[in-house]
Amino acid sequence: MSHSEKSEENARPKVIIIGGGVSGLSAGIYAQKCGFDVTIVEGHRIAGGNCTSWKRKGYQFEGGLHWLGGSKAGTPLNKAWRHVGALDDSVVIHTDEPFVEYRHETGTICLFRDTAKTEQHLLALAPQDSKIIRLFCRGIKTMSLLPTTLTDIKGVKVTGKKETESPGNLIKTLRALRVLLKYSKIAREDYAKRFIHPGLSEFIRAIPGEQQGIGMLMMTMGSLAGGDGGFPEGGSVPFVQRMVRTFEDCGGTLLLSTRALKVVVEQGRAVAVEVQGNVNAETILLKADAVIVASDTMKAEALFSEPLKSAWLTKMRATTSPTSAVLVSLGINCDLSKQPKGFIMRFRQPLRYADKQVEYVLVSNYAKDSHYAPVGKTVLTMQLPGDTYDFWAQAKANGRYAAEKQSIQEQVERALAEQIPEIDGCIEVCDIATPLTYERYCDNWRGSWMTEITSALEARPYPPTIDNISALYFCGHRIMPPGGYPPAVLSARTAVQHLCKDAGTIFVSEERHQPKD
Ligand SMILES: Cc1cc2nc3c(=O)[nH]c(=O)nc-3n(C[C@H](O)[C@H](O)[C@H](O)COP(=O)(O)OP(=O)(O)OC[C@H]3O[C@@H](n4cnc5c(N)ncnc54)[C@H](O)[C@@H]3O)c2cc1C
Repeated sequence: MSHSEKSEENARPKVIIIGGGVSGLSAGIYAQKCGFDVTIVEGHRIAGGNCTSWKRKGYQFEGGLHWLGGSKAGTPLNKAWRHVGALDDSVVIHTDEPFVEYRHETGTICLFRDTAKTEQHLLALAPQDSKIIRLFCRGIKTMSLLPTTLTDIKGVKVTGKKETESPGNLIKTLRALRVLLKYSKIAREDYAKRFIHPGLSEFIRAIPGEQQGIGMLMMTMGSLAGGDGGFPEGGSVPFVQRMVRTFEDCGGTLLLSTRALKVVVEQGRAVAVEVQGNVNAETILLKADAVIVASDTMKAEALFSEPLKSAWLTKMRATTSPTSAVLVSLGINCDLSKQPKGFIMRFRQPLRYADKQVEYVLVSNYAKDSHYAPVGKTVLTMQLPGDTYDFWAQAKANGRYAAEKQSIQEQVERALAEQIPEIDGCIEVCDIATPLTYERYCDNWRGSWMTEITSALEARPYPPTIDNISALYFCGHRIMPPGGYPPAVLSARTAVQHLCKDAGTIFVSEERHQPKD
């Protein structure tokens, strides 16, 4: 059935969602299950946005999903992932140990998901640091108790029992917040200096995200220690495909290769979206009773003829700092399955690009995963951190873009061959995605797919509505800093709850929609 035939037949309130990333798909599924007639318009020829991977010469390069908050069965977030079909009982979740490894001259240093194992390992390695090791692990354990919740907004009617904070959860949250407050004030560099063991001190500095306080590291490790943060087998593409299937099975319409050009606003209300197909460039108007913007909120202004007014948007524009990276992916004709799944590589000669010098980088090794590399071969990926958007834009303008990528490739290949001599001469393909790649692919602001925060205390969500236009809602990674997949689904859930509240519709909650066995 064509989109126009469907609209004539269907009297249910029509919702147009701009963007078919994880957040747009989640909003579509929630809204469709609540009885709305949903159409998602996605500019790209496949859905998923930043949750994606791509093929090069027989290798598959993972460009999104590395670890997933809510992968642990039974957690509230897991219920949300199941509700939107991203996870089900058939999906194998991998929780490899150690989580990360670093080979220092003094020995191999690891962080395990299992905190007791980490504590035992670090104490054996550096008994002189026993006091700080115990405190570090105690912090992680407290963080592991931090509950995740699905809270319902005030005034919305939901099926089943309303989600509220239990007193037990509040106590655990307060305890975790106390630890966070204490450690968020300590810079990673200063904390590293407190360790006497030279390898351990270097390791603490080398773990990615050094601009974040030590509290954020404890929080990440706490989430892993609680059994969460696993890797769903197959990564991004099957994760998104399951969501697309769920959306279409619920009766939703997904228009791929279709860009939203303008949200039409009449008398202060969003009433339609003007879209253009990438293939025949035809412009059509999709009428809507409500519009959800699930593309990057930092670029939403371009979709409107009038300025968007809200204090929170002004604050977002003024304070948002982009998280982005250069993603280097290598296809190697060599079996590296004996190397750890995640390891920190040190560039003995710091890797230079843009105005940056990178000394340490986290490497993901897919040698044991046949979804990514043929048997006997290996995919390695690494993210070179930092906002280098302006550098790449300039390199593009002055014709140096390819040469700058080539320079990164040579430095990475040299450093890898120094550390893992057997790969010398075996690298068959090197793919480099810059912030310009992400901008072109998803139209993300400065090619960034998350928001930089230095302390978990800054992780406050923005509201999904604005002051001067009604029937308009926002969701996506930017709405819940720092972003990532959990904020993508949770912000979508909140946006649809506002939609339901405004439309006088009951929100169909996760309880009533568990997947069939
Ligand atoms: C290398 C990398 C590793 C990551 N690892 C993790 C991880 O391990 N765990 C984690 O939680 N997060 C991770 N993330 C972050 C995560 O991928 C993103 O935060 C998340 O995908 C954001 O989803 P979203 O739907 O909010 O936005 P997006 O993915 O940006 O989706 C927005 C969609 O809108 C579309 N769009 C934009 N403008 C228009 C328009 N005008 N018309 C139609 N469509 C439009 C885009 O094409 C896109 O599909 C990673 C990201 C990257 C890049």
